[in-house]
Amino acid sequence: METEVLIIGGGVTGTGLARDLAFRGISCIVLEKDMINSGASGRNHGLLHSGARYVSSDLVSAMECKKEGDILKKIAPHCIEETGGLYVATRNDSEDYISLFPQLCKKAGIPCQELSVKDALELEPGLSNDIVAAFRVEDASVDPFHISLENMNQAIEYGARYFSHCKVTKIITGSKAIQKVVVKDTANKKIFDIESKIVVNASGAWAGEIAKLAGIHVDMIYSKGTLLITHNRITNHVINRLRIPSDGDILVPGGTVSIFGTTSRRVHTLERIQASIEETDSLVREAKAILPELENTRYIRAYAGVRPLINEKDSQENSSGDDRAVSRGFSLMDHKEDKIDNFITITGGKMTTFRLMAEKTANLVAKKLKNTQKCQTALRPLQSKAPSQMTEAGISFKSWTKKHDKDDIIMCECEMISKNQFKHLISWLKKSKKEAGLNALRIHSRLGKGACQGTFCCQRVTGLMYDEAYLKEDDGIHNIKDLLHERFVGQRPILWNGQLSQAELSEALYCGFYGLELTK
Ligand SMILES: Cc1cc2nc3c(=O)[nH]c(=O)nc-3n(C[C@H](O)[C@H](O)[C@H](O)COP(=O)(O)OP(=O)(O)OC[C@H]3O[C@@H](n4cnc5c(N)ncnc54)[C@H](O)[C@@H]3O)c2cc1C
Repeated sequence: METEVLIIGGGVTGTGLARDLAFRGISCIVLEKDMINSGASGRNHGLLHSGARYVSSDLVSAMECKKEGDILKKIAPHCIEETGGLYVATRNDSEDYISLFPQLCKKAGIPCQELSVKDALELEPGLSNDIVAAFRVEDASVDPFHISLENMNQAIEYGARYFSHCKVTKIITGSKAIQKVVVKDTANKKIFDIESKIVVNASGAWAGEIAKLAGIHVDMIYSKGTLLITHNRITNHVINRLRIPSDGDILVPGGTVSIFGTTSRRVHTLERIQASIEETDSLVREAKAILPELENTRYIRAYAGVRPLINEKDSQENSSGDDRAVSRGFSLMDHKEDKIDNFITITGGKMTTFRLMAEKTANLVAKKLKNTQKCQTALRPLQSKAPSQMTEAGISFKSWTKKHDKDDIIMCECEMISKNQFKHLISWLKKSKKEAGLNALRIHSRLGKGACQGTFCCQRVTGLMYDEAYLKEDDGIHNIKDLLHERFVGQRPILWNGQLSQAELSEALYCGFYGLELTK
């Protein structure tokens, strides 16, 4: 295979870069070793930062978040819910920080309005009565899968190519340039080469490993963060605890659920990144200070991701193993300086700033290719022609039935996804020949993401996949097993009360009917 630009990594940065290059008429291929958003892009909080979180630690990142957040709200409103955000402090939080916060926001150009405690409680009645200060900011909630899928689909409409389950295993370099990249297709067990004028390493936390394949050292820090998903939506606003960033201080409403987190623990490998019971317990302990309901609510899932952070000379882990002091800025490296002219690394940053990261990278690529087209990604809607696959936030049965065909039925009650929506998606996946099966439907929709974690919907949808000739022979049972295993990993650390009963039911159903073992 040949292309002008080979992008390694199908997260929000790699897919955003593909969109930017495709608009400039530059041909590109995106390679992803698993599925789209398998890295940090599918394992984050879903917070479109107003920038306020970084005003004390990283002014540049704060300002970038503000600017990029505003752009994304304009170009991708269908992926974003403009919830607004509140910063609230408790008696135990630093008074100095509370009084400094509005000034720091002002300095960064981030709108921040002081509220009385009474007004804050009226806006969000679930907040603790013990809060002593509140500010309103422009935080929002974003669906990271929707963003990356739109990026990639739109790039494909403009000529880009995308391959999932394709892992870069070797980089062959000649004098001063990469000659070819060796790729293992793990789904079809094939090995193939790609020759490309330029190779971009957009592999997030794996950036050091990819650079090493080309003989280059990129020093990364792995900071693991764990998040918990509640079975319902707890608040309408994003709720932040007003203190220097720490564990368990953000709650983000996302569709029908809320996501609470996060932790920051230094880890030394990217293998088996999973939420631990210790982190889960510590998050639940922290939660009640700002939202008492979080102590007893039902959690349906815990998950963890690794932040791609660059190890700068003074990046010290603090005594609690927390890497929050390390910059959230991004790093664009032209490896011409390492004597490989056609190799670039882009890593670090935030999901909120992905478009800017892609723009800076594409500018460098265009310069190298002598392409004079300007970046268009801030001006053009981030919306592909592919069907919209996401359920609306908090959609009720009543409003759903009003809006949908009379002959349609619901297959996933937790997330209100109908048979026709799944049929539409299956036919699109069949045509696009991308990922296949139940897990692919999960990536492209909210299947298995609600309170039942796949217990009821996954067998119904498997039946539909057979009806639509999307599965053959005993594929169905393997699909169910893979999906339930994947869901079980996220349930294990939060198995108490309601979710324990749910997991027992799921186990009884699948072990009893299908003889499956639900452990991994
Ligand atoms: C716990 C947590 C919470 C966060 N919360 C937020 C938030 O609320 N808001 C926000 O703006 N940001 C947040 N972030 C940061 C944000 O998620 C990341 O900055 C962003 O997703 C990074 O995207 P990326 O595409 O650069 O990397 P990734 O999403 O990690 O993508 C890299 C991809 O490269 C692939 N890859 C690796 N090696 C190979 C190979 N050999 N061959 C092919 N492919 C390969 C991986 O599978 C992966 O999919 C959070 C991060 C974490 C961990």
